[in-house]
Amino acid sequence: RVKTKWATTQPKFPSTRLALENFDVNYGTQLGDLWPSVRVAMLCERKYGALVNNFSAAAEEVMEELQSQGAMDFICSDVLQRDEVQGTTEEQDDKPLSVNGPFPTSETEEETVRPGLSPNIKCFVFPKSDISRFKPARPDSNRTLGYYLMDAASLLPVLALDVQEGHTVLDLCAAPGGKTLALLQTQAFGYLAVNDSSVSRKARVLQVLQNYVPREYWSDDRVRITSLDGRKWGELESDTFDRVLVDVPCTTDRHSLLEADNSIFNRSRNKERQMLPLLQTELLVAGLQAVQPGGDVLYSTCTLSQLQNEYVVERAMQVVQEEFGITAQVQDLGPFTQLFGDTFRFAPKPRFGELVLPHLTANFGPIYLCKLRRVH
Ligand code: SAM
Repeated sequence: RVKTKWATTQPKFPSTRLALENFDVNYGTQLGDLWPSVRVAMLCERKYGALVNNFSAAAEEVMEELQSQGAMDFICSDVLQRDEVQGTTEEQDDKPLSVNGPFPTSETEEETVRPGLSPNIKCFVFPKSDISRFKPARPDSNRTLGYYLMDAASLLPVLALDVQEGHTVLDLCAAPGGKTLALLQTQAFGYLAVNDSSVSRKARVLQVLQNYVPREYWSDDRVRITSLDGRKWGELESDTFDRVLVDVPCTTDRHSLLEADNSIFNRSRNKERQMLPLLQTELLVAGLQAVQPGGDVLYSTCTLSQLQNEYVVERAMQVVQEEFGITAQVQDLGPFTQLFGDTFRFAPKPRFGELVLPHLTANFGPIYLCKLRRVH
């Protein structure tokens, strides 16, 4: 008789269960009454967005097809709806995002202003409560794919970064490359440095670029791709960039709940998990050193964890002030997130930044984003 090996090879507590237990304790306290609905959403299938590839010769047809399937561009439609409700005027459009000090001020002090959104980023989603799935993207006559499927909330950090014409931009932790592709869609930057410390994951970014972007748009004089330790960027290139995206490794909450393979909750990775907030802080510190005075850094994660979100932001601001004399101020993203309230559910205002909470009717996220301006 062949004995089943199950009992000896299967861990008693799979990492998915360890992740759920960890989240129940931490997020139950952090989110209170909101946690049960977030929990059930995270245990269900996530919703995707289709980032339209402007570099595809068939981009117009692709958008028509997505529309005919019932999907709509959330960036365009949310902003238009908001304008209709609020009667946004040209005068308001010209105002910059309001900037608050290190501790966000009360809501009454917030200016309701509209951030500059790139007109070139288009992302289609199915309406609330519609759980239809997108078909895999098809190649056009040049073998360029028509859209990239990603969590639509992952675009918020790129939109909030607000890349303007001619900006030098650093994408510090870029793989697998969804946000890099969105940055390329803006076609606004003058120079883009794309980095990921993992050589194998850098290869995935290259693959995305090869499948989506004609080579002339990522020529060596415009786009540089490296696999360096992002924590070293302050020493390598300080005071250099107009915009820096710091999309750090984290506990990838949704993934950890559903996938046991190579999970950060595997016992063998306990130490690595415990060290995440330190790594995240070091990466954000490097980003704040790499940006020019007056420039902006966008810190983002796909976890609900305060320890990896607000606490990292707070600690990094302290470190850059004490060790490098750099003052960073949190920018108020409230007016920005108001634009997208029809598509995403945002958490009640965290201490710093904004947090997209998964919900069964809008099953995106979790995505945390915080924008910091380097003052000097
Ligand atoms: N921005 C990516 C996107 O939108 O597709 C996702 C980035 S993922 C959340 C975090 C990445 O950070 C991983 O690809 C990981 O290899 C990379 N990473 C981890 N430690 C790093 C370090 N010290 N320096 C640079 N990248 C690092």
